[in-house]
Amino acid sequence: MNKEKNISGNPYYSRTVTTALKVSDEEWKNILSDSVYQVARNKETEYAFSGKYWNFEGTGTYYCAVCGNALFRSDSKFASSCGWPSFFESIRKNSTVNVEDRSHGMTRTEVLCGRCGSHLGHIFDDGPPPTGKRYCMNSIVLDFEPDKK
Ligand code: FE
Repeated sequence: MNKEKNISGNPYYSRTVTTALKVSDEEWKNILSDSVYQVARNKETEYAFSGKYWNFEGTGTYYCAVCGNALFRSDSKFASSCGWPSFFESIRKNSTVNVEDRSHGMTRTEVLCGRCGSHLGHIFDDGPPPTGKRYCMNSIVLDFEPDKK
């Protein structure tokens, strides 16, 4: 994806402002690269083992690639065999929102960004301690920022 396009041409992007955003899909379509848009707003899922973070181990923070909202710390990321970046908890309570998803003939729990409402992935109950949760995310809607040394 073209990360620079998303950030430089995106008036809503902020890593400090947490106020909820109300932006139409049409407007997002003009702002986001197509590959980010397809996951974030059309709820597509990237192929397993294809994203940039599924086996990534850097120390830092993961932000929403759509709006800049802080989502996960690297110390909540765990090695999962599923092929998508997996976390056992979000960075704070309201950073993500869970909603029921009955698409594709399944009942799953979808995870949305708590600030912009973009689709991030799904959450399952087969994660490791201490939460037992697995936030199964799409790499393309995450931006990793390494900690400053
Ligand atoms: Fe967001």
